[in-house]
Amino acid sequence: MTALDDALGDVYTEVLRRNPGELEFHQAVREVLESLGPVVAKRPQYTDAAVIRRLCEPERQLIFRVPWVDDAGRVQLNRGFRVEFNSALGPYKGGLRFHPSVYLGIVKFLGFEQVFKNALTGMPIGGGKGGSDFDPKGRSDAEIMRFCQSFMTELYRHIGEHTDVPAGDIGVGGREIGYLFGQYKRITNRYESGVLTGKGLTWGGSQVRTEATGYGTVFFVQDVLAARGASFDGRRVVVSGSGNVALYAAEKVQQLGGVVVACSDSSGYVVDDKGIDLELLKDVKQARRERIAVYAAESGARFVEDGSVWDVPCDVALPCATQNELDGGHAETLVRGGCVVVAEGANMPCTPQAVRVLESAGVVFVPGKAANAGGVATSALEMQQNASRDSWSFEHTEARLAEIMHGIHERCLETADEYGRPGSYVAGANIAGFTQVADAMLALGVI
Ligand code: NDP
Repeated sequence: MTALDDALGDVYTEVLRRNPGELEFHQAVREVLESLGPVVAKRPQYTDAAVIRRLCEPERQLIFRVPWVDDAGRVQLNRGFRVEFNSALGPYKGGLRFHPSVYLGIVKFLGFEQVFKNALTGMPIGGGKGGSDFDPKGRSDAEIMRFCQSFMTELYRHIGEHTDVPAGDIGVGGREIGYLFGQYKRITNRYESGVLTGKGLTWGGSQVRTEATGYGTVFFVQDVLAARGASFDGRRVVVSGSGNVALYAAEKVQQLGGVVVACSDSSGYVVDDKGIDLELLKDVKQARRERIAVYAAESGARFVEDGSVWDVPCDVALPCATQNELDGGHAETLVRGGCVVVAEGANMPCTPQAVRVLESAGVVFVPGKAANAGGVATSALEMQQNASRDSWSFEHTEARLAEIMHGIHERCLETADEYGRPGSYVAGANIAGFTQVADAMLALGVI
């Protein structure tokens, strides 16, 4: 662990005291604070106005009961969350996660990260996150709909296009956004398209939103490679997960000439040196909602049950599943296998130990705040189209996404240089995101 100077150490101690047991939130805060030493040394006004302390305290945290009835007529009970973290730059913006592991500490880590990520995009959006400990696996379509309707029956009073604009995350895709939007519309009697993003293309959605997080991550890595005179052409790439982010990261890698040799889900991984058949994988995972072993059986790829996808040697690793999925041991394996770049498509998939191993071995590491910001940036483009009642072409929207990712890449490197950490995407992303939000907070007074 990097030592924190006195002022930042005090902030961290206070975060631990006020948020007991929320380990992921502690980890996310610590990771940002470790980058801020040079900033507080240069700009004491942030400490004087308690900007960092205030940034670590969400503006509002909502926890609510979500009762619903399953197909057998039994009453089920889940817990819903929405953490409205920071609105200095715009309405709270960030996804909803439905997964049994969800609790307040996970929602707060995600909301905290989102504040800096959204600032980095340069777009007028604050940060928030939400979700539920609901497990969608094995649930029928009708059960998913009833759950979403119950969830929105509470959430609707807290959100709005100028207040808080949720989107998808793990377990929440186009189907769930549809049921959530339908219930919002029904309760409020308003066709307020800008209240949710990730909508279907025929009812207010944006081209490229589905692909944006994965594509954006790969655009970022393309810039990283180009800065070293290299490209994706012929590179072996391993992607973890096989959900929204993973599938479209894999698609863009293939379009750019790379070979995706392995991907995974929570049951294990598949590996195929010839490259994954993406059309089949999409059919298995998106259309049929099956496990990845079914893909292996139908494609002839090798399936390794409960194995670690990081055992597969590669040039570029894209963790796109979930937090803390790549630890120090996995990082050592990647280094031994010749990996040169690790970029986080997921939020905080690499443990602090993994990041240390990668950086000390000279592997380029790109944190999720920068690498996966294309999803929320395209959500902001969806909001722009909703506000102007317009819809843009796929090509135009993808070009905007590429331009935004290129801008984030430049900003990270310039900021890292300015604060004496040349080449560090971690320092660049944390400091650039932080100063943007902190300056707005200073301007808005003590609120
Ligand atoms: P999906 O639900 O579409 O896919 C998640 C994938 O990760 C699935 O393959 C899933 O496997 C796997 N996974 C989830 N939890 C675990 C776990 N505990 N252990 C092992 N594997 C797991 O989610 P997304 O693709 O939308 O999100 C993936 C990551 O990207 C998350 O960290 C999310 O916060 C982040 N992200 C998403 C954005 C978006 O636009 N969707 C934007 C920015 C970041 P299984 O099906 O077996 O559970």
